Amino acid sequence: MSHDVVIVGAGPAGAALAHSLVRRNLDVVVVSPASPWHATYGSWRDDVANAEFGSSLDDLVRGSWNIVRVVGKREHLLSRPYVVFDNSKLRSTLLRGVAVIEDTVNDMVNDISHGRDTSTVRMASGTSVEARLVVDATGSRPVPQGGGGAQTAFGLTVDSDTARRVGVQSGVFTLMDWSQPPTFLYGAPFADGSVLLEETSLYAHPPRSLEYLEERLRARLGREGATTTNGVERVTIPMGGPLPDRTRRVVAFGASAGYVHPVTGYSVAASLRAAPRVAEAIRVSVARQQSGNALANATWDAVWPAAQLRTRAWHTMGLDVLQSLPDAAVAEFFDAFFSLPMHQWSAYLRVDATPRQVRQAMLGVFRGVGATTRFRLMSSPGGLLRAIVAR
Ligand SMILES: Cc1cc2nc3c(=O)[nH]c(=O)nc-3n(C[C@H](O)[C@H](O)[C@H](O)COP(=O)(O)OP(=O)(O)OC[C@H]3O[C@@H](n4cnc5c(N)ncnc54)[C@H](O)[C@@H]3O)c2cc1C
Repeated sequence: MSHDVVIVGAGPAGAALAHSLVRRNLDVVVVSPASPWHATYGSWRDDVANAEFGSSLDDLVRGSWNIVRVVGKREHLLSRPYVVFDNSKLRSTLLRGVAVIEDTVNDMVNDISHGRDTSTVRMASGTSVEARLVVDATGSRPVPQGGGGAQTAFGLTVDSDTARRVGVQSGVFTLMDWSQPPTFLYGAPFADGSVLLEETSLYAHPPRSLEYLEERLRARLGREGATTTNGVERVTIPMGGPLPDRTRRVVAFGASAGYVHPVTGYSVAASLRAAPRVAEAIRVSVARQQSGNALANATWDAVWPAAQLRTRAWHTMGLDVLQSLPDAAVAEFFDAFFSLPMHQWSAYLRVDATPRQVRQAMLGVFRGVGATTRFRLMSSPGGLLRAIVAR
């Protein structure tokens, strides 16, 4: 029996796309191990408020905050609500009604063969599944040994008194506290009194090691941090690689498609926001009796619309600029960023912002920083901000 779509990988991206396809009455099969999601996934609430969940967003979150705190050289209290998902609820809601085969595909190139109209995916168990379209939602490629960059973080769960001593108050989500560069503190205080603290490094090439981040977090926590081993979270988000080859018959989605934001390392909201668009493109193409390369091409166009490719280029340049700054200037950079009108910095943080929105935010930061940092930005790689100002 041949299906409309086989999705390999049931992380947030694969599950979201499967859900949106099933809503459109497409015949979908997901191939993935039955592993639960271990990461703590957060998002700005408005970014996912209209996502296709099949349930109210409030039923799918573990934590929800109205105020988000950022500390650069000064403190910013941002009135933009933020949520952390309840992984088990999000996963089961998205995959409700979706056929899942608990298996893996050993080789995403050689174990998938293509006929004119359909593709056949051979699984590790030896069985096969056939569909008009295969989607690769297997997540980011691992950081190659000896090369490649990543955002890294080391997290521990502490009680609210311990968190308060490092500035993380109950009821306020600390997105980044840059008071001790070159890494920043992230703090999610949950309603049950537990607080996830993470010592986080923005993208670095080579990545900052988890041991280094653990040492810094424990030093920050002092006596309380020396021994605790509660709720350890180890984060490595590979970033900075090329986008997938869009001439492939197997279409990528989610982190495997390069949805990880070049500056923040986030991709869950991007996948949730893109799933309806991509599912709709597949529905229309299937309804037109397209298959093979035509269906794959229509899907790629929805995965990476042309405007978003230009946005991605600006985001990547933004990361280059940030990386060219000395540690001491990063806090000032974020002060300027979060002093922009909220709609400007919010748009910048979205993978699906327009190129114009991203440029506007970058120009706003350029205007907002002091003369020394502005000079550095002018002379940053590619003279990026000179290019923006010249427009
Ligand atoms: C600890 C951590 C915290 C993070 N926090 C956030 C956050 O707060 N907000 C945010 O937006 N992003 C966050 N990210 C970054 C990013 O969003 C995640 O990496 C996210 O999991 C990407 O989703 P995905 O579905 O594309 O890929 P993945 O979550 O990696 O899912 C891939 C799925 O494919 C399966 N799979 C892989 N290979 C195969 C195969 N060969 N055959 C079959 N199945 C396969 C895997 O088992 C997995 O289920 C975080 C990342 C980490 C590691």
